[in-house]
Amino acid sequence: MINIDLRSDTVTRPTPEMQNYMFQAPVGDDVFEEDPTVNELEAKTAALFGMEAGLFCPSGTMTNQIAIKAQTEPLTEIICDYTAHIYQYEGGGIAFNSAASVYLLHGERGKITPEMVQGAIRPDNIHYPVTKMVSLENTSNKGGGAFYTLPEIAAISAVCKENKLALHLDGARVFNALLAADESPQPYSQYFTSISVCLSKGLGAPVGSVLVGSKDLIRKSRRIRKALGGGMRQAGFLAAAGIYALDHHVNRLAQDHARARLLRDTLQHCPYVEHVLPVETNIVIFKLKPSASTQTFLAKLKEQGILALDFGPHQIRFVTHLDFTEAMTERTCQVLREIKF
Ligand SMILES: *Cc1c(COP(=O)(O)O)cnc(C)c1O
Repeated sequence: MINIDLRSDTVTRPTPEMQNYMFQAPVGDDVFEEDPTVNELEAKTAALFGMEAGLFCPSGTMTNQIAIKAQTEPLTEIICDYTAHIYQYEGGGIAFNSAASVYLLHGERGKITPEMVQGAIRPDNIHYPVTKMVSLENTSNKGGGAFYTLPEIAAISAVCKENKLALHLDGARVFNALLAADESPQPYSQYFTSISVCLSKGLGAPVGSVLVGSKDLIRKSRRIRKALGGGMRQAGFLAAAGIYALDHHVNRLAQDHARARLLRDTLQHCPYVEHVLPVETNIVIFKLKPSASTQTFLAKLKEQGILALDFGPHQIRFVTHLDFTEAMTERTCQVLREIKF
């Protein structure tokens, strides 16, 4: 029987309290902008990040893709790290939706620097696409949950402002980043032109992300969302889960980080583990020794009711979350200690 799922922080189910809150939400037709709960979630998320307006979307892929579509055009280019979700895991959506080009940087654990951005900006020459936008991911998924601090973001933003470039944040795990850096979301509005805030990862809501930015950007984004088929009707039931999550599930992310560190501590003593990437938030990526096959390791875990993710050659990823309890942490550590190759 599978009862411990460490594949992703998207596997959580709404708690009874969240469900209760969802079913009591007042709703209306959100395409007419008449759903009070959707309006509340959008305003609340925007205010949290110091932005003017918000737009509730079915997924983080959609908020990212809308932000790109709204701030680029064909013959222009976006700069991001080669591991970025917008490039690797959105089905080629940038080419499909925006017909824009991508300039890939090779950062450190998914993080890029102001110097790298400066070096990637194209000269004014018709051979090149026109650089239009930079996108950061905080925390970085492929980077094992590494996070940017505010001074790092400010320095990249300065380069963007100097060169009139939009700066997007893929904030699938932005609250994990803010917690780890001990920062508040408010100052982000000085640096980013758009932020995608995910509700269905660590925050434990069943569905959705909110795109926040200026009133003008969100007005344009609302049109794009409609054209992509993302205009939902009585979506307040889903937005309510987001409101509940913002009110009750942000501070508890500290537990996920602590549990990720416990997994790391155990893995560091397992003879079949070659090394564990630094654990800064809720993601644990580790490499198995060449003698230990990924498939065999995953099968051994599965026999004990634990699921994990194959994350490239000899690499495994664990992600801690709301439904990964203290007892499950102890059980997982025990299983890891007992596995033999
Ligand atoms: C999960 C994720 C997203 C959005 O994913 P959806 O499944 O479309 O909500 C975006 N960026 C990163 C880094 C993610 O991990």
